[in-house]
Amino acid sequence: MADFPFEISPMFEGERVRKEGMFVELGGPKSLGLELVRAADMDAIVDDQVTIVGPDLKDMEEGKTYPWAMIFNIGGELVEADLESVVERRVHDFINYCQGIMHLNQRYDVWMRVSKDTAGKMDSFEPFGRAVMMLFKTELPFIEKMQVTFYTEQAEVEKQMTEAKEIFKARDARTKDLHDEDVDVFYGCTLCQSFAPTNVCVVSPDRVSLCGAINWFDGRAAAKVDPEGPQFEIAKGELLDAVTGEYTGVNDIAKKLSAGEFDKIKLHSFFDSPHTSCGCFEVVGFYIPEVDGIGWVNREYQGMSPNGIGFSTMAGQTGGGKQIVGFLGIGVNYFYSPKFIQADGGWNRVVWLPSILKEKIDETIPADIKDKIATENDATDIASLKAFLEAKNHPVVATWVAAEEEEEEEEEEEEVAVAASPMMMPAAGFQMPAMPMMSGGSGGGIKLTFKNAKITIDKMIISQKKEKK
Ligand code: SF4
Repeated sequence: MADFPFEISPMFEGERVRKEGMFVELGGPKSLGLELVRAADMDAIVDDQVTIVGPDLKDMEEGKTYPWAMIFNIGGELVEADLESVVERRVHDFINYCQGIMHLNQRYDVWMRVSKDTAGKMDSFEPFGRAVMMLFKTELPFIEKMQVTFYTEQAEVEKQMTEAKEIFKARDARTKDLHDEDVDVFYGCTLCQSFAPTNVCVVSPDRVSLCGAINWFDGRAAAKVDPEGPQFEIAKGELLDAVTGEYTGVNDIAKKLSAGEFDKIKLHSFFDSPHTSCGCFEVVGFYIPEVDGIGWVNREYQGMSPNGIGFSTMAGQTGGGKQIVGFLGIGVNYFYSPKFIQADGGWNRVVWLPSILKEKIDETIPADIKDKIATENDATDIASLKAFLEAKNHPVVATWVAAEEEEEEEEEEEEVAVAASPMMMPAAGFQMPAMPMMSGGSGGGIKLTFKNAKITIDKMIISQKKEKK
């Protein structure tokens, strides 16, 4: 594009700016990174204006990380506050269309890098801001006017972050009094199919999107203003199971959008036909079989989970638009849902959270379970997690006791069976009986089932009996 010093195309979407090729890093794990879209009166917007508060690109030092906030104001006849999240969700796409500029994550954990090559072609963020706004107005024509402010000063970014978090909180709270049973339609989103082709994103009043950016109201606003766009209405259809959150309409859309890969999605289930996980989820849940509980780790947490895996490795296993049983990507706001994994025990199944996540969602964790959920300060591996849960008498501990009793009962049953049919069970001096099934004969055979049996054989010789001629 003639007007811009770098190329702009969707083909740059998957481009990564590695550390060696990076001029500067903006936001990310070592700093603060924010993006926010606000609807404003047309008169309050100076169209295409880019304002930079703090050091501009030319004032930045190569290889350094800077705090970063970008606040976009949008105006137009059809623009309303409900559209803010939906527009905000596209920031990721449009920034990544710019050659040599990498954007990851969303909302309050934005992470960007500008490559050396692109920084060599411009000395200001101004053309970058204009490029992104050009893309917005081309792709979302309901935006008639737009301006952006980039903040790169620590104090200013902190201030913007504090204000933005309140805005995000208010947006997320809007669905609090609305539930899945109160509406006839849910909303779907296909934005992430660009990198997770079988991902089927379903947004209901009780289930915010995985990326955390789109709730039911946002889906409704987006589908209304752009019916051909990536957000669309899903007729709920018939309720098949209220606990798991299974609806015929959701199953139909799952089949259609995944090209037959899945035929069911149960909105509030962790294990059975769970929601697909694209890759931009804010939190990933993981089953810990040793304690029969579920741990959750968020993107911001840099450490290891008790299973010895960190967020990025787990995200790699979970993403791609699949239904991975034992892992589940969610938006943070799903913790606030009254239907939070209700098919699998809800909060009573949660055994571990990083402390930053536990503090963040503190108000929604039921009081009777809060102290029973471990963090990295209580448990860093399976053994310490088990000991913690046992000491706190976490609800999952009751399931261990029940499982042990069941096992014991099974063992007793087996002992009775041994006594009743000694020929079939291995014992001291056991010799393999000559059985029709072992010689491949056709006499019906015998089925041997060994449960919890330990068999030690020093030597076994199997030879074919020669027929006498
Ligand atoms: S996670 Fe879902 S709602 Fe969010 S952008 Fe991706 S497809 Fe859309």
